[in-house]
Amino acid sequence: MIELGKKVVVTGVPGVGKTTVINGAMERLAAEGVAYEAVNFGTFMFDVARKESLVSNRDEMRKLGKDVQKRLQQAAASEIAAMSADANIIIDTHSSVKTPAGFLAGLPEWVLRELMPDVVVLVETDPDQILMRRLGDASRVRDMEGARAIAEHQEFNRAVSAAYAMYTGCTIKIVRNENFLLERGIDDLVDVLR
Ligand code: AMP
Ligand code: MG
Repeated sequence: MIELGKKVVVTGVPGVGKTTVINGAMERLAAEGVAYEAVNFGTFMFDVARKESLVSNRDEMRKLGKDVQKRLQQAAASEIAAMSADANIIIDTHSSVKTPAGFLAGLPEWVLRELMPDVVVLVETDPDQILMRRLGDASRVRDMEGARAIAEHQEFNRAVSAAYAMYTGCTIKIVRNENFLLERGIDDLVDVLR
């Protein structure tokens, strides 16, 4: 039995495949009768941003001014907190967002206070693999950056996630999503969800 109201935050740099790993894990858990709801943090932000005509696609949000991004982030956090009071929930989001002004924390203190996750998962893989995945994904406007910059972003995500553990007492789980080894990544995520 899992306790109700378990909150699992899943993060990873754009293109690492976090949504794919989450969908695989959700399918596996549904077959076992374990109920989780998956919500995408960026979608909550985008709903507001689109209504205000700030952007026309979700990948433009990280280029908005820092204060606008923080306002959208706050709105998303309160909406998600309200719906997750007694459900088990997976939140698909980012430990940090790469903006023109530098890395923006995905879970600053006021967002953490709303969400209070039990676990923060970092989905990672080799930067070269991420680069290839971004090049092959025509459905999104992915940032074009080299493997070195992707590696640096993953390093920053680990560093900032240590702060999330200090604020909340959550555990930090690293899940690798390697080429041809998606099932292994799904297994590892399922282990923290059940
Ligand atoms: P995604 O679909 O997960 O790539 O998210 C789309 C966009 O939503 C990201 O590029 C960010 O601009 C925004 N976003 C998602 N989660 C967060 C967060 N926790 N804090 C700030 N922005 C976020
Ligand atoms: Mg995604």
